[in-house]
Formats: sequence, structure tokens, C-alpha cells
Amino acid sequence: MSGRFAPSPTGRLHLGNLRTALLAWLAARSRGLEFIVRMEDLDRVQSEPEHERVQLADLAAIGVDWSGAVVRQSERFDLYRDALATLRSRDLLYECFCSRREVRAEIENSPNAPHLPPGSYPGICRRLTAERRRQLLDGGRTPALRLRADRSMEREDEAVLIEFTDLVCGHSDGGVDDVVLQRNDGVPAYNLAVVVDDALQGVTQVVRGDDLLASTPRQIHLQHLLGLPTPTYAHVPLVMGTDGERLSKRHGSVSLDELQAEGQTVRDVVRALLSSSGTEVGDDDGPSTALEQVASVFDIGRIRDEPSVYEGLVDGQMTFR
Ligand code: GLU
Repeated sequence: MSGRFAPSPTGRLHLGNLRTALLAWLAARSRGLEFIVRMEDLDRVQSEPEHERVQLADLAAIGVDWSGAVVRQSERFDLYRDALATLRSRDLLYECFCSRREVRAEIENSPNAPHLPPGSYPGICRRLTAERRRQLLDGGRTPALRLRADRSMEREDEAVLIEFTDLVCGHSDGGVDDVVLQRNDGVPAYNLAVVVDDALQGVTQVVRGDDLLASTPRQIHLQHLLGLPTPTYAHVPLVMGTDGERLSKRHGSVSLDELQAEGQTVRDVVRALLSSSGTEVGDDDGPSTALEQVASVFDIGRIRDEPSVYEGLVDGQMTFR
């Protein structure tokens, strides 16, 4: 039974990531769960060991600790392929040769089914003839693998609708589209890997950014298909810049080292981040002692559930609105 933080090691953690990590850690500790960190490094072009090292150092610095070794998705492809084999044996996968451009063009011409997430795949390759498939293969195209989402339903064209209760967002629901489970370069896709890993790592509580709320029905459906348990979910608000965009390097000093260079202590950063989500930190010594105290009264269901806007350092103070 554990909670987790699962960053992609593609750069420095920014304030939004650090806040999500703190909330995930507090949510786990407040319920007496273990906490693990997993590196979601499926994207081998952008992931780097150096980013991983710095991300882990930043987590440790703000008082987020974890049990056991940090697991890397890049070392677990066999496990994801086993899950694909299970789905394939039940005829729940199909090959998709579409490029992103082709999918975009088709989406523009065919309106999105109302219950499906925006940009859902319109099923072009479901209708592929054997002859066309052969042509594409002969032309050097390699297929991705997609989930045949509705095949598990009683009527095959019936949409899969998943409902769940999110500890922060409340009652949520959404449709499941024919999500990619293996990319056309053979790399397993995030939605598959996350489901396999959360189950194998005993994750019973997922706290993550609310940009992933729309992916959760897909993940719950995959859990059902693979006979895996569904964790509880808490999708926490993101931190935005004053321009309304997600926080990124463009917004100035947004990582721990940059804020320290501007005179902030780790404690200032932790305090400001938690305060921005409605959680006050007492006046204890080190960040870990303070965090343990916060954990003893923390309830993830009671955090401020609106996006925070980071306005930067105002009179030397990290300021959110
Ligand atoms: N690796 C994802 C990210 O960094 C998080 C995935 C998850 O928490 O399920 O955005």
C-alpha cells in the first residue's frame, strides 16, 4: 500500500512539480502509506540520468523521502509487453499506421463523439483492409498498437464510460478512446506503463496533476481489462504563470536552485508551496520535521482546488494568487 510521485526526468522539477510531490507525500503519510518514486523515462530522447539525479536531489531537499530503490520505466519493457500480450490474446489490440498529421486531418473532418476526450482517435485503422495493411508494411510504415476500447462491452459499438470519485475533483467520468498502448517505434505508451507499474508496485493512492484527469478513465478501463486493482485518485491543481500557461522555464526562477540563488531558503519554498494550496506549515526546524507535523493533520480532500498562479518574487516573497 503506497502513494507515489512519478516524474519524467526531462528537466528540472519546477514549482508545480514540487508542490504535487509534496502533496502526494503528505497524502501518503497522512494515511500511513509508504511512498515511492518512479522515473517515467519512456521517452528516451528527452530523458537523461542527470535530470533524474537532480530531480531526486530536489525531492530529498524539500523533505520528500521514499522507500526502496527508484524504479525506471525504461528497465521494465518486458512487463509492459506481457500486459500487451494479455490484451492481444483477447483481441483487444489493433495496429494503427496513422501519422499524427493524418489523425489531425481526420479529426477536423469528423466531430468528436461527445463522451470521448478531445482529440480522440477516430478509429481510421479499425477499418483497414488486409491489402492496405500489406501496402503500408511494404512501404516501410511500422504500426502503433491501439486498444480496441469498445470490444470489451456487450455491444461492440457501445462506448466505454468510466465513473470514479476523485478525492479532490469529486465525481468524475469520461469515455475511453482507442488509446495508443505501444508507439510505432516499439516503445510502450504512458497509459499502459503507468497502469502496470502502479499495480505491480502496490500503489493504492495516486496524487498527480489535474492535467491527467482526462486520462484516468482510460487507465481505470485498462486496470479492469488486466484484472488489476484501481487505486484512489486525487488530481491536484497545476501551478500556472501569470500568462495563464502552465509554469515553465519561461516564467523566470521556478526551480529550487533558481529560487535559492534569489535568496529563498528551502523552507521558504516549501512553506510558500503548501500555503498556496491552503496548507499552513508551522515554525519547526528542518523541512522534514515540519512536514511530519503537517502530515499528522493533512487531508488531501481539503486542499484548495483551484489553479494557483505564481506571480514570482514580490518584495522578496514567493507570491501566489
Ligand atoms: N510522468 C507524468 C508526468 O511527469 C506523471 C504521470 C502520473 O503521475 O501518472 O507528468
